[in-house]
Amino acid sequence: MLIVMHSEASPAQIQRVCETIQEMGYTPRPMPGKQRTTVGLVGNDGRVDGSRLEALPGVQEVIHVSKPYKQVSREWKPEATVVRLPGGIAIGGEAVVVMAGPCSVESERQILTAAAQVREAGAAVLRAGAFKPRSSPYSFQGLGVEGLKLLARAREETGLLIVTEAMDAEGADQVAEVADIIQVGARNMQNYSLLKKVGRIDKPVLLKRGLSATIQELLLSAEYILAEGNPNVILCERGVRGFDSATRNLFDLSAIPVVKAASHLPIVADPSHGTGHRDMVIPMARAAVAAGADGLLIEVHPHPDRALSDGAQSLYPEQFTQLMRETRIIAEAIGRRIATPAGART
Ligand code: PEP
Ligand code: MN
Repeated sequence: MLIVMHSEASPAQIQRVCETIQEMGYTPRPMPGKQRTTVGLVGNDGRVDGSRLEALPGVQEVIHVSKPYKQVSREWKPEATVVRLPGGIAIGGEAVVVMAGPCSVESERQILTAAAQVREAGAAVLRAGAFKPRSSPYSFQGLGVEGLKLLARAREETGLLIVTEAMDAEGADQVAEVADIIQVGARNMQNYSLLKKVGRIDKPVLLKRGLSATIQELLLSAEYILAEGNPNVILCERGVRGFDSATRNLFDLSAIPVVKAASHLPIVADPSHGTGHRDMVIPMARAAVAAGADGLLIEVHPHPDRALSDGAQSLYPEQFTQLMRETRIIAEAIGRRIATPAGART
């Protein structure tokens, strides 16, 4: 439920609304806006009787949020959420943020080379998993803590921000020490203890759509993170299971406008996992930007043929340069631009 205050409501009137919500056994979330303050009521399971709140001075109206997800909905917060990152980079504003790099951190040489290549082409964020959720227990599982150290090194050398995956609640703090954005992978979209854990960490979270999750389930998973107090969630469309083996997944571009209408959270697109084939990545990256994606997550490897994971969908560095060139034109055509990387850190 949302309590919309009059534009001239006093701080004391807002305070009284918050106290009343507490007396009713719920939690108030005051959200000051440009015109007026709204106070969200959280902690309810089902409809709450708002008549007591409606009668309080300064209250303009009480809105019952109709969706099962609340805090991530546009009803709750009409204006878009902009997730602010170090170095002035923001996801969800006018600029489209490109995050690129190999699927996994494999060696010092591989990650430093990849970082330099994607930085050179204009990416703002380096992606690479130190901990890898693999379908087979016999596949490469990532370098773990050593991989995190190498990512920190790559950031020092290039100034790129880092997005990397946390696989479980126990390991999330360790990942957060290095990551600028914590990735929750598709296989973990409904790992509720991980979602709650990253909801209590003060770092943005990139939440990938589950392999067969509906958009509503994706938004409910995001709700877990916001409910714990972390408002900085970036959603990611990465394709869902389809029936056709022509592509690895069915890349659901329509999820972008659907999410934009339903939620204020930014959404980025991952055409690498979405298609599974490097020749399809550039066209679908162009399409995702045209569809309104706030960012791209792209797998790029210095030697894709030697990659320890996801080589078939990893771009050659020169293909990534082409992707950047072409998506820049598309972004400009729709009144946006591609974010420029922050300067190298000293
Ligand atoms: C990845 O980003 O390399 C990854 C494992 O993605 P997903 O969780 O979407 O499969
Ligand atoms: Mn991958």
